[in-house]
Parts: sequence; C-alpha cells; structure tokens
Amino acid sequence: AEVEPKRRRVLLKLSGEVFGGGKLGVDPDTVRGIAKQIAATVGQVEVAIVVGGGNFFRGAELSQSGMDRSRADYMGMLGTVMNCLALQDFLEQAGVDTRVQSAITMGQVAEAYIPRRAIRHMEKGRVVIFGAGAGLPYFSTDTVAAQRALEVHADVVLMAKNGVDGVYTADPKKDPAAEKLDSLTYDDAMRRNIRVMDQTAFSLCKDNKLAMVVFGMEGEGNVSRAILGEKIGTFVSA
Ligand code: UDP
Repeated sequence: AEVEPKRRRVLLKLSGEVFGGGKLGVDPDTVRGIAKQIAATVGQVEVAIVVGGGNFFRGAELSQSGMDRSRADYMGMLGTVMNCLALQDFLEQAGVDTRVQSAITMGQVAEAYIPRRAIRHMEKGRVVIFGAGAGLPYFSTDTVAAQRALEVHADVVLMAKNGVDGVYTADPKKDPAAEKLDSLTYDDAMRRNIRVMDQTAFSLCKDNKLAMVVFGMEGEGNVSRAILGEKIGTFVSA
C-alpha cells in the first residue's frame, strides 16, 4: 500500500484581541472571516489552534484592581473557552470538522485536553481548538501555544498579532526608526528584550528548537498564508 506523505502540522495562536475586533466580547463577522481563512487550508495542512482571552479578562489586570490573582486568571481562562466556542461554530459553518479541548474539565462544552487524541483528530482532518490555556494561573496563552505545539509535534508555531505585522528592532508604535526583521534567533529576541511575545514562550521554543512565525492579522488572507507556509511576518528560530 502507498504510504501517504506526512502533512505539515501547525499550531496557530489567536489572541483574544482577534476575536473582539478591538472591543469586549466576540465580534461574529471578524470570527467568521478568520474561520473562512482557516477552512481554506483544511486538507492541506493539519491545524491546531490555541485561543487567547484578552477580549474578556486578563488576570494581571484584574488583580491590579484588587482581585486575587489566581481567581482572576481562572476568569481569564474561562474567557478563552467562549472564544473557542465562537471559533468552533464559524468553522463548522464553513464545513470544517472541529473539536474543542479544554484544559479545565467542562464535559458539556468541550473534550478534556488529551494530546494523543488531539493528534488523532488532526490526522483525520479535524481542526483542534485548545481552550482554557494550560489550566494554570500565572501562565499566558502565548506560552501555552508553545507548549501545545511541542506536545502535539507541530512543525511550527504561528503567532497571529493585531496591530503589528512581525518583529521589529524596537516598538514601532514608539520608535519611528524601528525596522521589521525578516528573521531572527530566540537569543536575539531575548537579548533585545522584544516584547511582542512573552519571554517564557520564547525560551520554551528556543530550548526545544521549535520554529515560530510572528505575523499580523491585518492583510487579506494572512491567516491562510501563514498556515500554508508562505513567507510572511518574521521567522524566529533557535
Ligand atoms: N491564563 C492563565 N493561564 C493560562 C492561560 C491564560 O491564567 O494558561 C489567563 C490569564 O489571566 C490571561 C488570560 O487567561 O491574562 C487570557 O489569556 P491571554 O492574556 O494569554 O490572552 P491573549 O492576550 O492572547 O488574548
């Protein structure tokens, strides 16, 4: 029997900002658009997605207003699950088979996070959406994206950003001389103290030699292009 060539497998990180279209909550038209872009790649690439929750709550911000940090972080994690369900709905409407896996058990709305099952779903052509972060306070979904990418053996982690289209030599919003980089190493990123990603995510990728693409959501078809492996944004490697 013919052996099927192994498909590329990617882990896409979508931050909460992406879902809200800049506002609190979920903007259906925005999510529908992203779902269509993901749907356009199905069958060619295996896709898993880690979803952020900053459009609902960020634990660090709530704790600054006096909440207990861990409880606030759990609120943040629960927010990510709402984004997962929105994305799942629009993906299914676009004809894509999906599964949501949550790091916090909630059997009515999502499977539990079971990495081997996630891999099996992807092999069958399903898109797996990971919610509730790591299930652990004091973590960010960027770090979880790196961790999940490693655990499901993704070839690359794709970090979708709002308002910036890659890694710059300085913060482009503050420094007009900032230049976009086509590629850099994790050592460079950490030495330059680059803020586009959290340092834990960088160091996890570095230590395990996982490649990363940082790219902007703005621009026609950017999510599809990143998933399909087109040169886009900034390539970060060990
Ligand atoms: N969070 C957490 N542990 C995790 C992932 C997320 O405690 O493993 C919480 C944390 O409070 C965070 C919030 O969930 O602020 C939303 O996630 P994040 O800020 O990473 O979302 P994004 O910035 O990507 O929208």
